[in-house]
Amino acid sequence: MAFQNEPSLSQPLLPDAIEALQTTHAVKGFLPANEAAVLYEVAKEYSRLGPALEVGSYCGKSAIYLAHAVRHNQQKVYSVDHHRGSEEHQKGEGYHDPQLYDEAAKRVDTLPEMRKNLRLCHVEDDVIPVVARSEQLAQHWATPLSFIFIDGGHSQEQATADCLRWIEHLMPEGVMAIHDIFERPEEGGQAPFYALQSLLGMHPLKIVRREGSLVIVAWH
Ligand code: SAH
Ligand code: MG
Repeated sequence: MAFQNEPSLSQPLLPDAIEALQTTHAVKGFLPANEAAVLYEVAKEYSRLGPALEVGSYCGKSAIYLAHAVRHNQQKVYSVDHHRGSEEHQKGEGYHDPQLYDEAAKRVDTLPEMRKNLRLCHVEDDVIPVVARSEQLAQHWATPLSFIFIDGGHSQEQATADCLRWIEHLMPEGVMAIHDIFERPEEGGQAPFYALQSLLGMHPLKIVRREGSLVIVAWH
């Protein structure tokens, strides 16, 4: 029997439809619908200029929104994750999911779940998964990016390294989106917020949009 490729949906979907698709397939993740809609909208606008990249794939939730955004412009989104989970995803921590634990390796492994979700949501051609430590990949990266979404590790060191290393790869006309920005400790962890302060202090960038904990910055 001839090998048949899965059909890829040719028409990009709007955020509501992407949300419905993800609900149908029970895509796990950490991105509220209002933030997802803004992420989609901004990525769609800026990916006219070139490829997009996100740090923090987890199970593909944000990547699926970004896939539909970049598809409008015949572009791709690189989705970077070591797939071993952040601190809070480890066994015994608050956001641990036993279904995402590889018993043989005794490690979290979100890659099989992400792959499944990209397939079920028909975006395998739009997303280029990269299994890597963000900070290592940033050192070797050479392609200018139109849109960067930072949603990786939440230690202070990691959050700051992600912002400062990836900004070097943002096009002059591009934008960077950063997730989990909470100004007050009672709202959530402060590391991404302090990372954003470092970024704004070291580069001529300004905040151009906010939605929930999602902040978008652009060059002055
Ligand atoms: N964007 C996702 C959520 C990401 S959760 C969504 O829409 O649901 C954060 C992810 O960052 C985790 O999957 C974790 O494995 C990844 N991560 C943490 N530190 C990292 C690092 N140093 N390099 C690459 N990925 C990292
Ligand atoms: Mg996040």
